[in-house]
Amino acid sequence: MADNENALRAMQNCFHSQFSVDEAEYEDIEENRRTSVEEDSIYLGCTLSQSFNPDIHHSPVIKMGWLHKTPPQGTLVFQKRWVMLDAQYLRYFQNEKEVYSKRIIAILSVTKVLNVGGQKFEVVTRNRTFLFRAENNTVREEWVSVLKETIQQHCNSMEKSLMNSSDTCGQRASRVSLISKQGYLEMSGLRSKLYVVICADSVFLCRNAEEHSQGVGITSIEMNLGAVKGTDKRSFNLTTIYRTFSFVAESEQQREQWVEALQACVSHSLSSNAVAQKIWSEEANQRCADCGAPHPDWASVNLCVVLCKCCAGVHRGLGQSVSKVRSLKMDENAWTENQLFLLLGNDKVNLFWAANIPPSEMLCPSSDSEERQRFVTAKYCQGKYRCYHALFGQQEALNKALCNTIQTGDVLETLSLVFCGADVNCYTGDPELPSPVSVAQHYGQTLQVEFLTHNHNTELPGSRAGDHTILEAALPISHTGYLFKTASSTRAVTERKSKGDFSRRWCSLNQGNFSYYESEKSSSQSGQMKMSDVLCLVVNPQGKHGYGHSFELYHDSGRVYLFGEDSPDTVREWIKVIGKALVPPVAEDLVGWSFERVGRLRYTAGQSFHCPCLGWFSLGGSRLLLLLHGEDQVDNIDLRKLQELSMEQEAAAVVLVDRGRRLRLEGDRRPDYQGWLSGIQQGLGRGDGPLDQQQLTETEVPVIVDRCISYITQHGLKSEGIYRRCGVNSKIAALLLSLRHDARQVRLSEGVCQVDNVANVLKRFLREVGEGVFNGHQASLPWLHTTTVSERERVSQYKALLHSLPPVNRATLGAVINHLYCVQCFADENQMNMHNLAIVFGPTLFQTDGTDNSAGQVVEELIQNYQDIFNVNAEQLQRQLDMISHVIKAQEEHAEEGTPSPLTICGIYLERKEEGSELLVQISQAVSAEELVCEVLRRGNIPPQQGDYWSCFLVNDNQEMERPLHYQERALAIYFSLGKDCHLVVKRNCYMEAMLIYIAAMVDVSRNSMIKFSDEKGQRGKRTFSRRLCVLDGTSLRLYKEVKSTQPERECQVHALKVYYGIKKRLQPPSCWGMTVVCEQAERDKQQWYLCCESKNELIKWLATFMNLQVVSFCVTETYSTFLSSLFDFFFSFSFFI
Ligand SMILES: [Zn+2]
Repeated sequence: MADNENALRAMQNCFHSQFSVDEAEYEDIEENRRTSVEEDSIYLGCTLSQSFNPDIHHSPVIKMGWLHKTPPQGTLVFQKRWVMLDAQYLRYFQNEKEVYSKRIIAILSVTKVLNVGGQKFEVVTRNRTFLFRAENNTVREEWVSVLKETIQQHCNSMEKSLMNSSDTCGQRASRVSLISKQGYLEMSGLRSKLYVVICADSVFLCRNAEEHSQGVGITSIEMNLGAVKGTDKRSFNLTTIYRTFSFVAESEQQREQWVEALQACVSHSLSSNAVAQKIWSEEANQRCADCGAPHPDWASVNLCVVLCKCCAGVHRGLGQSVSKVRSLKMDENAWTENQLFLLLGNDKVNLFWAANIPPSEMLCPSSDSEERQRFVTAKYCQGKYRCYHALFGQQEALNKALCNTIQTGDVLETLSLVFCGADVNCYTGDPELPSPVSVAQHYGQTLQVEFLTHNHNTELPGSRAGDHTILEAALPISHTGYLFKTASSTRAVTERKSKGDFSRRWCSLNQGNFSYYESEKSSSQSGQMKMSDVLCLVVNPQGKHGYGHSFELYHDSGRVYLFGEDSPDTVREWIKVIGKALVPPVAEDLVGWSFERVGRLRYTAGQSFHCPCLGWFSLGGSRLLLLLHGEDQVDNIDLRKLQELSMEQEAAAVVLVDRGRRLRLEGDRRPDYQGWLSGIQQGLGRGDGPLDQQQLTETEVPVIVDRCISYITQHGLKSEGIYRRCGVNSKIAALLLSLRHDARQVRLSEGVCQVDNVANVLKRFLREVGEGVFNGHQASLPWLHTTTVSERERVSQYKALLHSLPPVNRATLGAVINHLYCVQCFADENQMNMHNLAIVFGPTLFQTDGTDNSAGQVVEELIQNYQDIFNVNAEQLQRQLDMISHVIKAQEEHAEEGTPSPLTICGIYLERKEEGSELLVQISQAVSAEELVCEVLRRGNIPPQQGDYWSCFLVNDNQEMERPLHYQERALAIYFSLGKDCHLVVKRNCYMEAMLIYIAAMVDVSRNSMIKFSDEKGQRGKRTFSRRLCVLDGTSLRLYKEVKSTQPERECQVHALKVYYGIKKRLQPPSCWGMTVVCEQAERDKQQWYLCCESKNELIKWLATFMNLQVVSFCVTETYSTFLSSLFDFFFSFSFFI
């Protein structure tokens, strides 16, 4: 039916688009008809070998047969014609084998059908009458009734379609004429010009424009079988499988336009409604998933929604990485997603995508494009309205659930998992079937495979910073020139490509599109990519390929493109402009240096609860520049100074800890990610490299040096003969090996390491490190020479030489000499004075064999003049020495005695109150709930685990309620204020994870919904709970008797609230999901309210909102960002993982 309406609308447009001509004109037309009525038909002469196959026309034939038609003027002989009727047209043909009619009459224009005498009947249109004669009365009756019926049906469906379209986007679409071009053309073999109309997927030939406006023509040519070709300057052929129509246009320009319009018509006609019909057979797909417009004939194949044209346009604007938009009008063979869309359907899919749309944000078919843009972005880019999966935020659990679900036919669950963060490319744990796709394939779940494949590269909702603008470079950059290009591949280019592998291409970067052509003169490009689909630009080292300078582009599709040139300037310029076009303007710093790769990656930062965001990164050597989600400034990580780096092998993710910040780069299987991994690994410090390639501390001292020095400072300063004694060679070698492997992982602990071994590790490292502290033999000579200059000048010369050292060398030398200075301060105990140390360290630092005394002399002078040469403040140095003395003293004391003096002893239960679970802990007044939890867990020997959220609960047995303490609350004060029915227990907070997930997804920190409420003490057998509208926001908790009430029945300021989990059973709460709210606005006015939810989920939402607001109330004056960070502190105080 829907198809029918469309067709009708098309015809209406085709034949009636000119009905705006005024009535007077019709009079002329009428006049005209009378004089030339019988010259009307034109014989196109095209027959089929067999009898006519009605299937070549789109609409099914209702009736066909022989009739006699009005004799031409002046004769009496009726002409025998083959007449055919379908729902839209009445046509007659020379005979039954003809393909092209002599006349075509739109049913729409037929006003009545009349019986006239002698087996004759008239088909009356507004402007002319067609007279037919049947063989007998029966045949005539048949024709007349069938015609009448067809006309009637036609009117009905017309009305219906007009009614339907009055409230929709479809209305606008139908007003847009389906006629793409019309006008007069000469046709070879005919004396007069024809009026040709290209409408939808047909071409109508009419004798003139008037005829066309009257709904009458000669014939229609179905273009699905057509081909169009220009033959000469003004002429062109329209070829169908039946015949060739040769036309001549008025001008060359006109010819161009006709050919173009006809070609478009051919491709339009190749599309079919077959796909749409199938997909619409699921009723939910008959309305656009976003705005509700009827007959949506587009779809997003990865988001699994069927869309109207307007919404599809917005989807397309979001880019392939968010929504892959396809037309349902595509050839049936090219469309494979039928089953998926039948299985899911807009309604079911919207249960996920559109679970929480506020009425104010709903889209309707008449919404304007701005509203559409906003809505579609919120819905799919931000996932604002989606239904959060119960596992949201638990990456591993999500992945696991995905691997299980794809073995079943539940694609909707898969969709929900994937768009809540499950990784489509995760490792399944099975080497035979490593990816979810391979699992789905194995289980024969073709629809799952299809869904997964479409979402292989999809950006997850919420992963774009703000909106999608981060993907668009705003600067209008354009650049052209020749480059050499190899064939693209699906993996990184590891082997060397010779010049023969490259072909010369004219390349152009314009408006965010990078395209390449056979040559400068080619008009059609041989390839193109949108810069927003380019994930990564990699600059190859010189000479990697046949062309000396080259770079690679990694496309979102997983393909890799390699370009090269011999001229470094040419390549440098391309890299510069592509880099700029790739990154958002705010991230331009990312490409303003000699980077090796730049691009975007998904990442999670420590507190983001595993919901990956999109960030921009550029990497070169040990420098990783980054622009994270929501930030407007490029940040900088020195990979050598990372506190930690760990690779998660299965997930292929990598975790970097830099200056306390944890960054997890989300792995996927595309080649660009592998490149990032190896690039980062190369940028990390390595123990066998020179000083500046070592793992470094914040002060640019190699971690190995720093570890050893600090160990000796703590444990070896009073050790006699330190640095002179040998230690155990095998132990020294083993320790140095492990330090070189990964110094940060090595903990030098007392008892395990002997000071002499550690001292020798330091010496051996300094002696063996590449280029040495003085940056190579050549550079060390001036140092040694300094001993020959006059004493007065030496210090300034050392200073100058120090200044000329590279930063890491300078810092290392400074650290070593500082250490030696400290060591000699304890010479009374360790017997190592400056001279002794210099004898040891001279050859070590200069990497010489010790025959040259000047090395020792230099070191001795450096120690001697340490303050002067290294510009150290005397006070500062003294403070350092005091600290060292203090540490040493404390250690000596610690070794002699035990722990410090006792504090207040409290009995805290671990996990539950029962015999034997009480732990006695000593705490001071200042101890916070958080510290108390840590202490109890330590005492209870419970190691912190990821996903464990421990809280200290105040449990009130009498009231059957409990409340987790805020992490900043002072534990001792609460302990002292406990009533006799109360106690403190440290246990897992089972709601915490769900609350955190809810908060993470929260847009607005407030809540507003119905809840069961009671404030009565309650008597046995009496139900006291009744429904209230409960509103909680930043200021207060308010209860309203009715939704319409303007005055709250109860109100309490947020800061005066204490929320307990649970409600006394004696009150007979209607569900077990209750909370007790204690309101202490005034000392005298302490109230207790009981709020009861209908589900656990509901309860968690309320508790999470309370918790969220409570954190704010602890720092009311802070700004929002501080609020967030305090919120995260809060989480981590419960979770103990970073
Ligand atoms: Zn729509």
